[in-house]
Amino acid sequence: MVMTGDLPWPLRGVDPADPYQGGFRFLEETQDGQTLHCGIDLNTPGGPQTDLGAPIACPAPGVIRFRGWWDGVARGEGNHIWIEHDTGEWSHYDHLLSTPIGEGTRLSRGAVFALCGRSGGWPAAHLHFEVLRQRPTSWWLWPKGWPRQDIEVVYLNPVTWLQALASAEEQDGGSDDVGLSDEERKTLTERITALEADQVIQNRRKLAFEAYLRGTVLYTKRGRRYRLVPSTIADDLIAQADAVALPET
Ligand SMILES: [Zn+2]
Repeated sequence: MVMTGDLPWPLRGVDPADPYQGGFRFLEETQDGQTLHCGIDLNTPGGPQTDLGAPIACPAPGVIRFRGWWDGVARGEGNHIWIEHDTGEWSHYDHLLSTPIGEGTRLSRGAVFALCGRSGGWPAAHLHFEVLRQRPTSWWLWPKGWPRQDIEVVYLNPVTWLQALASAEEQDGGSDDVGLSDEERKTLTERITALEADQVIQNRRKLAFEAYLRGTVLYTKRGRRYRLVPSTIADDLIAQADAVALPET
């Protein structure tokens, strides 16, 4: 029997006695009342910003298949990453601060691929972590209004998945964990404030460029939809990015 404290949590230092502090558990009803929470929210003890900039580690070998960028405004996933694992499952990580590693990158167990954040408009830093039994039908999948039994066909309880990984690991013996040194962690922490502001601006640039390639751009501001002509896209969006107020720390 594997104890929860021994699980390969993507956010290290999670308190096994209370691994969901301040967040939603698997298939709990969310605040919109229409969507069961299809993952788990992870924090470590210490307060709402303790995990800002904390390294996110890959629980099992796999490949990064998608990185999504926060526009600095929309409430939701924020910066997020999908990983396809060698065992067939897919894992999903939301609200990331920084996602420095690109699509197609192969990750070993324990490899750090992102930093914990609060992107997507959330006041507290936390990791929203999902596990799917199969490839997602959309990179922005959120099972709004789905009945519980339909969700359970697609989503796995992440704790169940981690337990399965840990018991397989126990049988294999050994581990190839790669952690961050104290010095690396300190350097990361010092860069957090600048990174967070930069990330919003960079994301705006990426979104603007992608929209430019599509030949049109629509964005929402204060509930109204706007259309921009290509020559003004980048400047406009970057100006907006500058104006985005980051959540209070
Ligand atoms: Zn969540």
